[in-house]
Amino acid sequence: MAQGKAAQSGFAKPGGDRYVKGMSEQTPTPKLQIRIVPVTPLQQNTSMIWSTETMEGVFIDPGGDIDRLMGAAEHFGVKIVAVWLTHGHLDHAGAAMAVKERTGCPIIGPHKDDQWLLDEIEAQGARYGITDGKNVTPDRYLEDGDELDLAGNKFGVAHCPGHTPGHVVIYNQEGALAFVGDVLFRGSVGRTDFPRGNHQQLIDSITGKLWPLGDGMRFVPGHGPMSTFGQERIDNPFVADAVTGYAGAEKGDVDLISQRLSKRWT
Ligand SMILES: [Zn+2]
Ligand SMILES: [Zn+2]
Repeated sequence: MAQGKAAQSGFAKPGGDRYVKGMSEQTPTPKLQIRIVPVTPLQQNTSMIWSTETMEGVFIDPGGDIDRLMGAAEHFGVKIVAVWLTHGHLDHAGAAMAVKERTGCPIIGPHKDDQWLLDEIEAQGARYGITDGKNVTPDRYLEDGDELDLAGNKFGVAHCPGHTPGHVVIYNQEGALAFVGDVLFRGSVGRTDFPRGNHQQLIDSITGKLWPLGDGMRFVPGHGPMSTFGQERIDNPFVADAVTGYAGAEKGDVDLISQRLSKRWT
């Protein structure tokens, strides 16, 4: 079923490809296309998604290597109309201001609880030997339940604290594709040993906010290969159902868990 849903979706199958490696598999009439460009020495996955109808696109988590990113946009004829950020870490947000300067586009996200990290990008960069990162002031913060639009394609927003307090996940339900930043990886979860990280909160974000989006949801993590939520529920050593006891949430449960998360956070 998951495969069938993906095949009908607007997204051409990303398949973990790199934009330099030729065209991905096409759906009959794709409305959205995606290419993943690894950037910075930390090999962070920047996603470029765009409408094949209008050729308008966004960068999700442009962490660095601005020339490489703008080269990808030029190569595919994409007009970048926004930057969307999942969280405030250097390797995800370092080139956001540079994209804005070159294109005039707005920076949207993450949640305001990550502003303290966006203010520290230049200081973080000095520690990692990455000198081209710039501190970020978003044009708009994201909240849980917000909706983003790319050329008529709707994207949902889930606030998923734990790795950082203001981390958001951005997903396209119709295309069954989520951009999860450093919340979840193939076979792992985000680090929580940074300041203001919280492991239990991260696990609650994953089971409470991500799993209800459906097993068929494919995801692009901040690092490493793609997977699906269903696969991680089977064999991810941190968040498999056998570990978390998750047995499927009713719609109502999501609100309950949201309340619990916000209580824990304040
Ligand atoms: Zn991170
Ligand atoms: Zn990262």
